[in-house]
Amino acid sequence: MLRQTRVAVSLGLCAFLLVMKGIPDANASSELPDPINAGVAEKLFRLDCGRSLANDESVWTPGENVGRSIEFSSTCWLIKHGSEWLLWDTGVPEATLNDPRGWSTLPKLIVYHLDKSVTDQLAEIGLTPGDIARVAISHTHGDHIGNVDLFPNSTILMQRAEYNWIHSPNGPNDNVNQLMALARKLLGTPKNLQLVDGDTDVFGDGSVTLVSTPGHTPGHQSLLVHLKHSGFIILSGDVAHLEENFQKNIVPSLNTNKAESIASMEKVRQLIAIYKATLFLNHDKQQTAKLKLLPSFYD
Ligand SMILES: [Zn+2]
Repeated sequence: MLRQTRVAVSLGLCAFLLVMKGIPDANASSELPDPINAGVAEKLFRLDCGRSLANDESVWTPGENVGRSIEFSSTCWLIKHGSEWLLWDTGVPEATLNDPRGWSTLPKLIVYHLDKSVTDQLAEIGLTPGDIARVAISHTHGDHIGNVDLFPNSTILMQRAEYNWIHSPNGPNDNVNQLMALARKLLGTPKNLQLVDGDTDVFGDGSVTLVSTPGHTPGHQSLLVHLKHSGFIILSGDVAHLEENFQKNIVPSLNTNKAESIASMEKVRQLIAIYKATLFLNHDKQQTAKLKLLPSFYD
């Protein structure tokens, strides 16, 4: 019976991978895990990596909520795999800590605040930035790479498409050009940079997988994490900002590619079905408020 189930799931995965061929990054190899035999990471911690206030929600929900203010959460995640630590995204720059004026990537649109530093939160569980072997970034917007410079000796994992994009010539959208320039500044030239192409198994055991989900930016990625008790969890990055956007395929106006954004949301929906996964939406304040916060963790 168990064997039959395994065969069925494996066939399901094959069918799924075939379906995946229809989406934009199909040329890249895929290392998605086997739903039954994937290894596990030991612990998943949420860090409070800031919050942001925007005065026009319609930038993220085109056609709706014009002129309405909104607050987003910013989240980083810390994963323990064996004796190794991996940090997913790095949040709003620590220089912003407790600054009432906040910090902005696009001053007319959004202002970020930081109430707790990454360093202090790591210290709560006895860690320093030097203990973090790998830092994986969903994409290069400032609220995700604001503290990459705290980790000069870590391996920085990102999609090659993202790295190439921020180093490409400016396009027609000046807001996007500004974000690219800021990304180059915040990312700097990491000593240990690992550029990946498509879905990538980080530890070689199916426990932590970088999942290519372009559209918000050209090399945007999400993270599929497998835990012993909690099962599979998908960390969204910015594949969608809000639960409603994810359900209705709503694409923010700042995304670099609308069709890719919708395909990536569809890919995440398929991953949720295949892996019976839970989706944690990085910027959805209502959802984030309900999730465990370091020193509590998922296992
Ligand atoms: Zn973003």
